Amino acid sequence: MKKRWTIDQIKQFVEANSTTKVLSTEYHGFSQKLLLQCECGNKFEKTFTKFKDKHQRQCDVCQPPKPSR
Ligand SMILES: [Zn+2]
Repeated sequence: MKKRWTIDQIKQFVEANSTTKVLSTEYHGFSQKLLLQCECGNKFEKTFTKFKDKHQRQCDVCQPPKPSR
C-alpha cells in the first residue's frame, strides 16, 4: 500500500529534509510536479517521488542532474 501524502505532510517532509521550500498549495498525486524554491532563490519543479526517493532536493544549479545510465 502506498502512503497517501497531503500537501501539509509534504511541506513538513521537505522542510525537515532540505533547505528547500514548497510553494505549491495543493497536491494531487505522485505524478504532479511540485513548485519548489531552492535555498539559492531559484524556483524549480520536481515530483515528490524524485525529491524523496532520488534525493533531488535542490535546483539544477545547486544540484546538477546526474546523467542516468
Ligand atoms: Zn539552488
